[in-house]
Amino acid sequence: MSDDCLFCKIVNGDIPSNKVYEDELCYAFRDIDPQAPTHILVVPRTHIASCADLTEANAALVAHIFTVIAKIARDEGLDSGYRVVSNVGPDGGQSVPHLHFHILGGRALSGRMG
Ligand code: AMP
Repeated sequence: MSDDCLFCKIVNGDIPSNKVYEDELCYAFRDIDPQAPTHILVVPRTHIASCADLTEANAALVAHIFTVIAKIARDEGLDSGYRVVSNVGPDGGQSVPHLHFHILGGRALSGRMG
C-alpha cells in the first residue's frame, strides 16, 4: 500500500466505492465520473504506479486481471463489445498513479483514441 494513493485507499475500504468485483489479486469498481454507460476500473490490490512499471514479475497478475476484465464484461452484458484502456503518465492522461484498466461500454464508442 502507498499511503497517499487514492486507489490503495479504495482497495482497503478507507474510501467508499461502488464495488463490482474483488478477489485476492484485484478489485473492480464503478468510475465516479463515467464516460460511457458502463465505466468500470479494475486495479491490482498491490500498488503499481502504471503499465510503465510492470515487469515479468507482474506477468501472472496482469494476465489474471485480463481474465477478470472479460468476466466483468460478460456479467455486465457488454456482448457487442467494449474498450479496455490504461492511461500512462501525463501525456497518456493518467490522473491516478495506481495501475488501472478502464472498461468502457454500453454504447458504440468513438473511433478516435487520442
Ligand atoms: P485515469 O485518468 O486514467 O488515471 O483514470 C482515473 C479515473 O479514476 C478517472 O476516470 C476518474 O473519474 C476515476 N476516479 C477518481 N476518483 C474516483 C473515486 N473516488 N471513485 C471512483 N473513480 C474515481
